[in-house]
Amino acid sequence: MRGCLETGGLREIGGWLAAEQLAPGKFELVGFTVDLDVGTHNRFASLPTTHGVQLDGILAANADRNGRVDYLGEWHSHPTFPPVPSDIDVAAMTTMVEESGPSFATLLIVRLLGVGVLQATITTFQRGLPPEQGQLIIDHARLTPVLPGMDLTDKNGRHS
Ligand SMILES: [Zn+2]
Repeated sequence: MRGCLETGGLREIGGWLAAEQLAPGKFELVGFTVDLDVGTHNRFASLPTTHGVQLDGILAANADRNGRVDYLGEWHSHPTFPPVPSDIDVAAMTTMVEESGPSFATLLIVRLLGVGVLQATITTFQRGLPPEQGQLIIDHARLTPVLPGMDLTDKNGRHS
C-alpha cells in the first residue's frame, strides 16, 4: 500500500478491502484494490467495475485460506490532512450500510507521513449502530504483496 501512496502523491487514492474473518469482529486484511487513475486531490470516487475485477482476483488468489475471504470495506488516503473520516466519509459509509450495500463495512484511512511512516485509522460502520473506531494491527512479518499485477515487494521480501 505504501508503494501506491507514493505513486498517488498528493492525490487521494483508494479502493476496496478484502479480508479473512479470523473471529467475530476480527479480520485479517488479505488484499486491497486500488485505482491510481481516478484519485483527485480531495475526493475519491469508487469505480465498481475496476475494483470488482481486482477483488475477484484477490478472492481467487486466497481461495485456499481456511476462513472466508470477502469484501470488508473501503480504504482511501488523506495525503494532505489527518487520516480520520471526514463528514463526507462518514455520511457515505453510513448511507452504504444503512441503505444499499453490506450491513457492515469498515473504512480504512491512511496517510503517508514520510519514508516508511504510515498513519492509519480504521472505523467500522454497522447498520443501526454508530460508527466505531477499530484497532488496526500491522504485522510487518506477515505482510505480503496482495495486489495482482503489482509487486509491492522487492527481491529481499521487503515492502517498498
Ligand atoms: Zn476521506
